[in-house]
Amino acid sequence: MPNAGVFPASEDRIVSYFADEPSHVTQLRETIRRFMEREMPREAVRQWDRDRTFPMEVFRRLAATGVCGLTVEEEYGGVGHDIFAAVAVIDELSRRGMGIAGPYIHCAFYGGLNIGENGSESQRRAFLPRIARGEMLFAYGLSEPDVGGDLASVTMSARRDGDRVILNGTKRWCTGARFADSILCLVRSDSAAPRYQNLSFVLVPPHLPGVTIVDIDHLGIRYAATTDVIFEDVEVSIDDVLGGPEGWNQGWRMLAGPALDVEKLEITAVAYGIAAAAVDDAWAYSQERRQFGKQICAHQAVRHALVEAKTKLHACRHMLYHAAWLATQRRPCSVEASMAKLFIGDTAVDIVLACQRILGAYGCAEGYDMERYVRDICVMPIVGGSSNIQKNNIASRLRLP
Ligand SMILES: Cc1cc2nc3c(=O)[nH]c(=O)nc-3n(C[C@H](O)[C@H](O)[C@H](O)COP(=O)(O)OP(=O)(O)OC[C@H]3O[C@@H](n4cnc5c(N)ncnc54)[C@H](O)[C@@H]3O)c2cc1C
Repeated sequence: MPNAGVFPASEDRIVSYFADEPSHVTQLRETIRRFMEREMPREAVRQWDRDRTFPMEVFRRLAATGVCGLTVEEEYGGVGHDIFAAVAVIDELSRRGMGIAGPYIHCAFYGGLNIGENGSESQRRAFLPRIARGEMLFAYGLSEPDVGGDLASVTMSARRDGDRVILNGTKRWCTGARFADSILCLVRSDSAAPRYQNLSFVLVPPHLPGVTIVDIDHLGIRYAATTDVIFEDVEVSIDDVLGGPEGWNQGWRMLAGPALDVEKLEITAVAYGIAAAAVDDAWAYSQERRQFGKQICAHQAVRHALVEAKTKLHACRHMLYHAAWLATQRRPCSVEASMAKLFIGDTAVDIVLACQRILGAYGCAEGYDMERYVRDICVMPIVGGSSNIQKNNIASRLRLP
């Protein structure tokens, strides 16, 4: 065994010694890291965060590497269903926040996964090749002012009138509505039908008449405005229902299906990437900063905090990539994806806060990335299904009475 007895400091070496990462994914990581050095220098990323935006041209250059095709089958212009590799892309990009990881998710995950899994054949042919080229971004319209975890209770209504569908209601916390080509709205499509049989997903372009977007000021993930989207008699076609006319009232089946299981991994990979960046920064800072005549990493309390953070991160990595591997194999991964979202979402907060303390006052300074990691990590156990909701999912999937 190489380097026996010496636990390698660098995460790359941990991967190569202990994890069964496919070689094409390791090469992809190297490509993404070179891209980040070139296109996402730290100071530029800080400025995007201050400006509450991201540069579309940088995302387009990322897309030109072909990574948006990782969630799209070859027959639709992608490179196949390689969730492991797509998660690695998010993990790497998130070391510099959500500035480019965010739009990647809006394209490859919100678009590629949902349309690939649940779209009609004509929707697949229309959207997937453009998604694979990074030309389309999507937003999620799930939450509402009075609906969070209990998504089966959405009240935004969809009424059929021949081949037309009329939409009314408000979506809340809709991130990216301003740049999205289409918002994937969960709607109540049959108010008389029993719970779970009355929901549909509708693809709604946000520039349609009757759509109003209002920004919400909030903590963290500033790459895009998170918004209220108000729909007043907005008219779309029955062909805009996800799955086409056959998708009418099939929303819950889609919501509980493999696309959203896999989709939990995307925000989990962001949480992991941010925690990994925090550990790297704290590890480096602890060797530069000297107090009481020595490097602070030589003080045992700091040293132990660093090692604890690194160890938790290592556990997170295994959970994330195990679930991603299952998803790539198209094996059931509902429990593992929820466990990863739960454990990594919560543990990443612990890791980042521990790392912030190692930087002392500089962990609170705007000019240091740690301050952004803290802001961003706080939303991870909430978005994409809260930690409690993941616990409920796991208990019910494991048939706990
Ligand atoms: C920055 C940001 C961006 C977001 N982006 C989007 C987006 O793009 N699209 C979108 O649709 N949504 C988005 N959301 C909304 C997010 O998905 C919801 O906040 C999340 O689903 C939780 O819903 P809620 O906040 O309404 O909490 P609630 O469901 O009201 O829950 C409040 C608390 O009660 C707990 N709780 C609720 N029900 C149960 C239960 N049955 N058992 C145990 N505990 C329970 C929860 O865990 C939580 O702690 C975003 C949120 C934020 C903060």
